Parts: sequence; structure tokens; C-alpha cells
Amino acid sequence: MRGYISRLPLVADSPAFPRRLCVLGATGSIGASTLDIAGAHPDMFSVLALAGANNVRKLAELAARFRPKYLAVLHEDGVKELLALLPPGYRPFIAAGESAYVDLATLPEADVVVSAIVGAAGLAPTLAAARAGKTIALANKESLVLAGDLIRGACAATGAVVLPVDSEHNALFQALRGHDPAYVSELILTASGGPFRDKDAAFIASVTPEQALAHPNWSMGAKISIDSATLMNKGLEVIEACHLYGLAAGKVAVVVHPQSIVHSLVRYADGSLLAHLGPPDMRVAISYCLGYPLRLPLNLAPLDIVALGKLTFEAPREDDFPCLGLARRAFEAGGGATVVLNAANEAAVELFLARKIGFTGIARIVETALDRHAATDAGDLDSILALDRETRDRVKMTQAGLG
Ligand code: NDP
Ligand code: MG
Repeated sequence: MRGYISRLPLVADSPAFPRRLCVLGATGSIGASTLDIAGAHPDMFSVLALAGANNVRKLAELAARFRPKYLAVLHEDGVKELLALLPPGYRPFIAAGESAYVDLATLPEADVVVSAIVGAAGLAPTLAAARAGKTIALANKESLVLAGDLIRGACAATGAVVLPVDSEHNALFQALRGHDPAYVSELILTASGGPFRDKDAAFIASVTPEQALAHPNWSMGAKISIDSATLMNKGLEVIEACHLYGLAAGKVAVVVHPQSIVHSLVRYADGSLLAHLGPPDMRVAISYCLGYPLRLPLNLAPLDIVALGKLTFEAPREDDFPCLGLARRAFEAGGGATVVLNAANEAAVELFLARKIGFTGIARIVETALDRHAATDAGDLDSILALDRETRDRVKMTQAGLG
């Protein structure tokens, strides 16, 4: 077991407090939880930079509250709109476009970069932060799926550290801390199973975006909610775990645990299983990353294990949720296959949300894209982004009956 996370020294190398935060994806669900924590601990964190994309109004609200020095939006038009919404007398630097996210992620003053843009758009800034030697609180799992090797290489070269925000990987991180990785025999990721865990194939074939967006336990952005319903999220997380902890996919198991209380487990050579339990609230994992190696007090209702009564576990129904197996297949194929997997999935999720395909069409599109993919290497950032674009275009053309 390699993994740049497990070799992190406990306290040395961690940025001093107060930490200056750069939050990419600030206007999203992870962004909101991150800023909730920062706002509750003003003695420990200051907000240096905030980036949104299209939700300029939300970004303006956050900026008015936290007064960061830097802001970024996706489109040039957003700059003017944002300026008009900011309080008088507060004039931050505002930049627009993809390069603006890279600029913010590499600001010399930034101590912790929270990578919480959704999808492949998060890759370039995350990689840039790794190349700049930053401490990265990583929510954007897609960047590891697309370019795990590049990010790992950048971390090794610069000493950058990736702290996993994703609840399962954060749970693993906590259960691995203080233990010799040589004794790890398996990582077990838990999955809620999503809203259709106990539905039959006929029901699953006919579900609507509204049904798929209604996750039973977690409140999240649209894309990850659909990924949770198809189990693609768990597939992406298997790949994420392999990159974070340097394991083969065969060493990362998945179990369905509908209560979402056990966030993941590490199996050690002596048969011990170490698990992390907690409420299904992303602030637990985010605060662990922001405060690492400290534990920040959070004002959450304590988990009442007696009221919970029981925790259950079952095997995932891979025949009815084929995305999990497709992700394993892509990771094992290597090269650009995980780029194709991710791009096809993102394009398919958009089509499903736009009601252009049915729910089971998502897995079909991903499978077709993997079948068509000639095993090319996608080694550097440019070739990864090119393969990502090419795959999305192909999905759209096929859908329009042109491919
Ligand atoms: P949301 O959809 O809630 O938020 C997405 C954020 O990304 C928004 O700030 C959005 O800006 C921004 N964004 C969208 N497109 C672009 C783009 N092209 N360039 C730059 N920014 C963009 O997503 P979540 O917060 O749910 O998820 C964020 C990431 O965290 C995902 O990778 C997800 O897998 C991961 N994650 C999320 C969890 C959760 O509980 N939500 C749990 C574990 C991981 P705007 O809204 O202004 O357009
Ligand atoms: Mg997760």
C-alpha cells in the first residue's frame, strides 16, 4: 500500500492557524458546508478566495459575508453582474474563465485549497494546486478518476497533500491513521444504495429525474445525486480509493449500508475491522480536512445509536446497477478508459436530467463508450482533456442520431 496520504506527518507540514482558504465550487453543496465551518471558526480560518460558476447571486452573498480578496466566475458577463451586487466599498479582484480557477488554486497566500467544483472542470485547478504544493481538501473525485497518476506524481514532486473530503475516503483516512499500511488487507467502501436500492428492474427503468434526485440520506448537488442512484458514484469512489491509497481495485470492496452511519471500514491482516461512524453530514469530513490534524467542535446533534437500533449491510445488486462494474472495468483497462467512463457518464447524466434518455440509458451510454474506446494512453493534462471532450461529443452525436 503506497499512497501519499498515509505518509503525511501528523502535525509537521500542516499549515499553521489561522488558515487561509481558497474555496473552488463555493456556490455548491460542499462549498456551503465548507463556509458554514469557516464561519463558525473565524479564529481558525479566513476566506481568501471564492469561486463559483453561474450562480453569481449566491457568490455575491457569500462574498459580502466573508469578504475574500479574490473571486472567480465562469463567464465574463458574470464579472459585471457580480460587481453590481457587492456591498459598497468592498472591491475584490474578480477574474473569469477556466484559467481564473487555476489562478485562485495556486495563490501563494492560500494555505488550503478546497476542490469542490463538480465534474471534469475540477481537474485543471486541482492539478495546478498539487503542482503548487498546496494542501488540498479534495471533494472533486472526478479529478482523481481522470488523472490520479498525474495528481499523485505532482504531490510526490512538490509535497502537496490531498486530504479526502469524500465521506468514505475520509472515513478510511481516519481508520488508517496511526496504523502501518503494510497490515491493510482490504478497504471496504459503504454505499447507501441510493433511492432505488430495493426497487425492481421494471421500476428502475422508469424512474424520473425527480425520483433519482431524492437521495434518502444525503443532501448533495444534482450530478452526484444521480451518480448515487446509478451506483456510478461508488464506482468513481473505488477508483478514487485506489489512487488515494495505492491499491489495486480488487482490494477495494463495496457493501451497501442503507443507514449511511458507517462511512467505510479498513480490514487489517489480523482480522480487525476499523470503521468510522458518524451522522450523514458532510461537515464532519470537511471539518476534519480543514482542521487536520485537529478535530473541530461541530454543533451537530449527537448520533443516538440506541435510537438507531440496528445497522445493516448487504451486497450491491450489480446486475441492476451496472455502473459499479463498468467503473471497475475502466480502472482495470487503464490508459484513457477512466477518462471515457467519466466523460460518458457526465454527458449521460446531463441527458437524463434533460429528460432526453431514461435512467437505464446512463449505464448503456457509458458501456457503449467503453466498448468503442481504443486503448489509447491519456498521459498528460491536454490529452486527458481532449479525450474528455471527444467522448462527450461522441455521446451527443450518437444521441442526436449522427454517430
Ligand atoms: P454542486 O452541484 O452542489 O456544486 C457544484 C459547484 O461547482 C458549484 O459551485 C458550481 O458553480 C461549480 N461549477 C459547476 N460547473 C463548473 C465549471 N464548469 N467550472 C467551475 N465551477 C463549476 O456539487 P456538490 O457540491 O454536490 O459536489 C461538488 C464535488 O464534490 C463533486 O465532485 C462531488 O462528486 C463531490 N462530492 C460531493 C458530496 C456532497 O455531499 N455534495 C460528497 C462527496 C463528494 P455554480 O453553482 O455557481 O454554477
Ligand atoms: Mg462519497
